[in-house]
Amino acid sequence: MIIDLKDRVALVFGAGSSGEGWGNGKAAAVAYARSGAKVVCVDLNRAAAEETAGIITDEGSTALALAADVASEAQIIEVVARVMADFGRIDILHNNVGIAQIGGALELDEALWDRSMNVNVKSVFLACKHVLPHMIAAGKGAVVNISSLAGMRIAGYDMPAYYASKAAVNHLTQALAVRHAREGIRVNAVLPGLIHTPLISTTKGMAETFGDFEAQIAARDAMSPTGKMGDAWDVANAAIFLASDQAKYINGVALCVDGGLAARIS
Ligand code: NAP
Repeated sequence: MIIDLKDRVALVFGAGSSGEGWGNGKAAAVAYARSGAKVVCVDLNRAAAEETAGIITDEGSTALALAADVASEAQIIEVVARVMADFGRIDILHNNVGIAQIGGALELDEALWDRSMNVNVKSVFLACKHVLPHMIAAGKGAVVNISSLAGMRIAGYDMPAYYASKAAVNHLTQALAVRHAREGIRVNAVLPGLIHTPLISTTKGMAETFGDFEAQIAARDAMSPTGKMGDAWDVANAAIFLASDQAKYINGVALCVDGGLAARIS
């Protein structure tokens, strides 16, 4: 099966990477481009967006880098207006941004709870609110939300804001999928399990859950049914499939990319 996204425009929020190497959003942006799409790389960190866009243009494809905070409606409106002005269409909306706040109900303060909900869930609502009208006008579009297995299962970390926000992304995905199916739009979620990306080294408090970074890697590998975490390309490949016409009858799913972790009892 060949994923052909030629002439499509993909808007990727969170297309940078929080550290060196391949994050899920960076890999997805490059994977969309390798499948033929023009890619708009948006990130809070302009340099990270530019790095991803640079990889794409160096490979001979088209990319635009923009900086924006996905929790800001004004900034999302600006991004969408710029994409429509430059490219005239948005075929694929990829919502990758997600932050993990370590800390339970006793430790987490209200501001951090709100930030998790705003960055992880409100961002999906805002992006859809401003992109869907263009997809509806075109009669076609695909939205891919990067959720998490943590929206269905409690992993080894104490991070209820993350679990709750990702559960909300899963249900929001279904609500949007059902509501907009007759308008030619599909909305699906990818639920990564334990993935080896820079996020697990840059998120404050994650490694400490297991002692140190090396111990965290060993624990995550051991928890994975395959004996190894997945990588950002596993998540990216699921996303480009869901965004493609090959997935034209797949709508409202929560696709686990987890090596079988969700299927395991203990
Ligand atoms: P990442 O390396 O942290 O990349 C996300 C990018 O989003 C970073 O460049 C980050 O910039 C940016 N960002 C953060 N807050 C933003 C905001 N408010 N507005 C715009 N951009 C923002 O993470 P990733 O590897 O691409 O993975 C991210 C997604 O995968 C998340 O939704 C996460 O929940 C999900 N996921 C990951 C795993 C895993 O094991 N790695 C498992 C399940 C789900 P800064 O660096 O400046 O913050």
